Amino acid sequence: MENNKENNKKNNKYMIAGIIISIVVIILAGITAYLMLSKNKTDDNKIPYTDLIKQITDGEIEKIEMTVGSTSLKVKVKGIEEEKASIVPNTQAFIELVQEKVAEGNNIELIQNPQPAILKISETLFSLLPTIVIIALFIMIFKMQGLGEKGKVYDAETSKEKIKFDDVAGLDEEKQEMIEIVQFLKEPEKFTKMGAKVPKGVLLYGKPGTGKTLIAKAIAGEAGVPFISMSGSEFIEMFAGLGASRVRKLFEKARKVAPCIVFIDEIDAIGSRRSSGNGAESENNQTLNQLLVEMDGFDTNETIIVLAATNRPEMLDKALLRPGRFDRQITINVPDKRGREEILKIHSKGKNFAENVKLKTIAEDTAGLTGAELANILNEAAILATVNEHEVIEQEDIEEAFKKVTIGLQKTSRVYSEKDKRLTAYHEAGHAIVSRYLETQEPVKEISIIPRGMAGGYTMNKTNEDKNYISKTEMEERLIVLMAGRAAEKIVINDISTGASNDFEVATKIAKEMVTIYGMSDVVGTISINTEKDPYELQLLGEKYADAIGAEVKILLDTAYLKAQTLISSHMDKLHEVAQTLLEKETIIESEFERIFNEN
Ligand code: ADP
Ligand code: ZN
Repeated sequence: MENNKENNKKNNKYMIAGIIISIVVIILAGITAYLMLSKNKTDDNKIPYTDLIKQITDGEIEKIEMTVGSTSLKVKVKGIEEEKASIVPNTQAFIELVQEKVAEGNNIELIQNPQPAILKISETLFSLLPTIVIIALFIMIFKMQGLGEKGKVYDAETSKEKIKFDDVAGLDEEKQEMIEIVQFLKEPEKFTKMGAKVPKGVLLYGKPGTGKTLIAKAIAGEAGVPFISMSGSEFIEMFAGLGASRVRKLFEKARKVAPCIVFIDEIDAIGSRRSSGNGAESENNQTLNQLLVEMDGFDTNETIIVLAATNRPEMLDKALLRPGRFDRQITINVPDKRGREEILKIHSKGKNFAENVKLKTIAEDTAGLTGAELANILNEAAILATVNEHEVIEQEDIEEAFKKVTIGLQKTSRVYSEKDKRLTAYHEAGHAIVSRYLETQEPVKEISIIPRGMAGGYTMNKTNEDKNYISKTEMEERLIVLMAGRAAEKIVINDISTGASNDFEVATKIAKEMVTIYGMSDVVGTISINTEKDPYELQLLGEKYADAIGAEVKILLDTAYLKAQTLISSHMDKLHEVAQTLLEKETIIESEFERIFNEN
């Protein structure tokens, strides 16, 4: 993904430049319009230049006021109260003419005002306008011509960044599957002589940050071949036909350096299902078609392996998956506990930790995180340790880094009203105590009313175990915990806030999955309906079915909300105590939380 990040950065730069140019152009256009309008206003009050000269010669002009560097001026005509405006074609010549008249004994007062700064700036900008427009055009042309250069070649032989399988933690089975490809890239003749068919394309499915790019680079590194990468979103262009031409150029380059790996990240951006024919989509189709043409057209002596990554396999056009294209698919999962420990080990190289820091414990506490997030945590921890002037990376640095990466930046600077604080305290206390009284829920690790990222506060449960299965009871109880924030607000403050919207979003998703994926509703039965995968699936089953699903989801959520209310009502003393402690300390950790329940 690093390559793509660079490319994205580059694209961002173009975008920012484009935005700045547009803003400047808009401002200039505004100034022009304003100047033109303000000129129009004085139009009927204007003296034509020839008349002005005549009036000066005739001695009818009393006073001339002009601004240095400007061709417009104001004149006071004898006997007329109102000042008039005029424009002179050549200020220098005009001034000389006036001075001549004065010397001749004409009584004209000539005032030359210094130019106001704003006018000067806008005029400078104005004079720069053509240059700016030209530069903008240049950038656009550059961008278009940069097509050929776009796909980045990263030569495994020469690059310092020679990534090997050893740099990829966990993913043992996946690596095993890739070994065959490495051997093919190294000695293609051996395979072709044997009449063996080696995949042309491999699709890697998995969440962002699970190491798809890393493993693709490692294949190139192991085989000692160049790695050419590009992101699917970069193929999508505002100019029709460019996407397809980029694909062509990418493969042209690949043929030149073959044997090699071509890596296409976010392939769903070009390989989405072909449907209705609006503009953007037909452009996509051209791009996709070009990709298919290229892959179908590989000669047997061209050793190019195309690896593509996506997070949304269900979106892909089936044509991509046909034999001879991406006929092999590998799922890259989020790492399990052992995998996380190995990833942490790799990324802790070159970092010094305090004695009490145990990678194993970090691995235990980070279920669900991807390799990229784990790497990020260790990097953040090293930064925090430096900022906090610690000799080595301490446990607290890691914990802070964990929060930063998972919940977003701590925003202590944001000022909160007492009312908001109280609401948040009761909301979070609601989540925490309800989860405390429900068997299946993990112990509360930390509760806080300090806003982080989008959340006004948070309640973190421990994640000590890697679970393969979640029971129905556990899911139902999770729903109750999610509802408890709003329930507490309602009971204590008798008002409700927007703070629970994310809770509801998560809860609704869980309830939907319980009914449509995990077959946990008796009414709906054991069926899996993935409307994301196939929007017509539900229609096939009929309206009654859709209604039944909706009703079941609603029942699950309503029941959970009621149970949350009941639980909170019967533990009001604890709710108040936890909320009060939160208002005092802002953050409560596990031991402090437990103390409240073990007091009597
Ligand atoms: P993806 O392509 O799946 O979005 P990347 O391969 O770009 O993810 O991963 C981003 C970074 O996360 C890698 O550069 C690496 O530092 C780290 N990372 C991810 N998975 C692993 C892993 N299995 N072993 C070691 N590092 C990993
Ligand atoms: Zn909440």
